[in-house]
Amino acid sequence: MLELPEANVIAQQVNKSLQGKRISNVNANCSPHKFAWFYGEPRNYYQLLAEKVIEKAIPCGGMIEISAGDARILLGDGVGLRYYGAGEELPVKHQLQIEFDDLSSLVGSVQMYGGLWAFPEGQFDNPYYQAGKQKISPLSEQFDFDYFGSLLEDGKPKLKSLSAKAFLATEQRIPGLGNGVLQDILWAARIHPKRKMATLSEEELHHMFKALKTVLAEMTANGGRDTERDLYGCPGGYKTIASKNTVDKPCPTCGTLIKKEAFLGGSIYYCGGCQRL
Ligand SMILES: [Zn+2]
Repeated sequence: MLELPEANVIAQQVNKSLQGKRISNVNANCSPHKFAWFYGEPRNYYQLLAEKVIEKAIPCGGMIEISAGDARILLGDGVGLRYYGAGEELPVKHQLQIEFDDLSSLVGSVQMYGGLWAFPEGQFDNPYYQAGKQKISPLSEQFDFDYFGSLLEDGKPKLKSLSAKAFLATEQRIPGLGNGVLQDILWAARIHPKRKMATLSEEELHHMFKALKTVLAEMTANGGRDTERDLYGCPGGYKTIASKNTVDKPCPTCGTLIKKEAFLGGSIYYCGGCQRL
């Protein structure tokens, strides 16, 4: 799943490789997928997008928004997005192919689920998209400790009864921070994913904030996580510490084996030595 670091990396790559390209053909819903979501009828995408020129891509939380004239293309976090040069073989199955004048293509494929929306600017109402556009990115300087603290205060005492995982990675409090990047953030902060927010000391809250800032920045600077792929199909250069790639491998700090466990509708990965309950 794409999260904030990968959405940033892929948006930069789209800007580098696709800016100025004119759309010549669109092939949407070529391999129907039960959990591939479109805006209206995919067959209308050609009419909406043909002849438009790719202007720029921006990350919206874990999503990527691409502008082409008055149209917007929005790729959700479950979409694998790849760029293929002219003549390169395309994957057999895909849900969106946008072909350009130079015969190169942008191809979106859904794994488990994902949105491939194309719509006239301003016409798409989706809470993840709005949150991604409006909320402050943890990569920006405005996301400081005061802002982080305000997410916890927010007038809702029940927030403090949430686990660290639920606080950081649900309800779009921090768009693009999902169950993937969460694991290394909590490992770096030495906080167990099940710890209740109310039990964290002021010092631990500072650790959590600092880990959130530095881990996300490091993941982005290194081209995303090694569990995900970029626009050219290459895995990211950030080596995850607590992920599906490192289960049963020793924690780099204390040597305890990284554990995988089910928690809150997903897996958590953590070091029982560094992250105590
Ligand atoms: Zn450890």
